[in-house]
Order: sequence, then structure tokens, then C-alpha cells
Amino acid sequence: MRDLTGCCTPYPNTFQIPSYIRVGGHVITVVRKQLDQNVFGTFDPETMEIAINPSSVASIEEETFWHEVVEVLNCLTEAGLEHKSIQSMGVFLHQIINSCYGE
Ligand SMILES: [Zn+2]
Repeated sequence: MRDLTGCCTPYPNTFQIPSYIRVGGHVITVVRKQLDQNVFGTFDPETMEIAINPSSVASIEEETFWHEVVEVLNCLTEAGLEHKSIQSMGVFLHQIINSCYGE
């Protein structure tokens, strides 16, 4: 029987964008760096790097991170998702993960 003790307890800390994630055997580095104007973030499959344009608004950086995570999944799985689907999934992942932290 699975022990579900504490499974629904919000985590004590707030979400922090990690410096790397592992996806399907790859290490995807995550950096903040100045990008072109109006670009919130990028994922480069050549370098396996997610870049996030620094923002004074933490939630924008966080949503950008989750958007780029979905871009990684779309790339590695060759799912061919339309960009509006990638955007929607990023928005919802951002909200779901924050809800795990009680936000
Ligand atoms: Zn995108």
C-alpha cells in the first residue's frame, strides 16, 4: 500500500527556477541572460540551454521557464505542438507548480 502521508501538504518554500533540469537523459542548463527586446526566453537544442530574459517581475521569469520546459518537451518528442498549445501548457504548469507551494 502506498504511503500518502503528507502528499497534499504544500511545500514550505516558494518555487525557485533551477540552474538545470534533466529531461530524457539530457541536462538542460537554465541561465538568465539579456535577450533581444520582446523575447522572454529561448530554448536552444544545439546547446541544450534555456535562456530567460531577466525581468523585475518574478512571475514572468517563472512562466517563461515553464514555457521553455514545454518547448524542450516539444522538441525532444517531435510532438509538433502549435505554439499556442505550448503557451497554454506553460501557463498551466506555472499555476499548478505554484499551487503545490500554496501560492
Ligand atoms: Zn515559445
